[in-house]
Amino acid sequence: MQRPVFVANWKMHFGPADARTYMETFARRWRARDDRTLIFCPPAISMTAAVEAVKGRDDLIIGAQNIWTEDRGAFTGETSAVMVKEAGARFVLVGHSERRHVFGETDEQTAKKCAAAVRNGLTPLLCVGELLDQREAGATKEVVLRQFNTGLSELSSESILAMAVAYEPVWAIGTGKTATAADASQVHAWMREALRSRVGAAAAEIPILYGGSVSAQNAASLLAADGVNGVLVGGASLDVDGWISICGT
Ligand code: PEP
Repeated sequence: MQRPVFVANWKMHFGPADARTYMETFARRWRARDDRTLIFCPPAISMTAAVEAVKGRDDLIIGAQNIWTEDRGAFTGETSAVMVKEAGARFVLVGHSERRHVFGETDEQTAKKCAAAVRNGLTPLLCVGELLDQREAGATKEVVLRQFNTGLSELSSESILAMAVAYEPVWAIGTGKTATAADASQVHAWMREALRSRVGAAAAEIPILYGGSVSAQNAASLLAADGVNGVLVGGASLDVDGWISICGT
């Protein structure tokens, strides 16, 4: 039995002062538990404040929302894995749907970003998911596995064992619509099978999270779905009390 993983993606919310207040409040109200993993992804500018706010609380992991593919150089406006690692991040989202569909990130870039994360000692969480028209055209499996296999293409089996993945149907992100538990289980099973072909039986140990309008109301049923090892949550993670309630599911 895997311990469930709860990832808060704050997106473009909370500057340094608000990030510090949120994390101090959360740390005060949440007693460390060894039966789950909690990760918070603030905007890059707020990472240091978030890290400082929970110094000494190893149970509260800070992650980045994005990194660039290279470690340093002439990439104006970007942040590298080296930098977020130095700031205290241990984890990074790669290929979030907003990176893919708002900023035009390609599958090949997600592969390079996963490699940059691993090279610098960060755990990548590779996010994949289909658009509504792709689902309606019956292309979910093809899209998800293409994003998935390309995203992992630069990683060794050993590195794959240290990562996490998330299925986030694009039509469910920030829309209030969620996949059914059965739909999530189906896609997770395809991903588990793809992982098995890379790393064998150890694939069972790799967390596969679900994301897309997870809330305090639906978290329990999604977490109970076959093959779902955790949740990646945007909007519902912005309220400390609401997030505490989801993390306690
Ligand atoms: C996300 O940001 O990954 C996400 C799933 O957002 P929301 O929970 O708001 O749908």
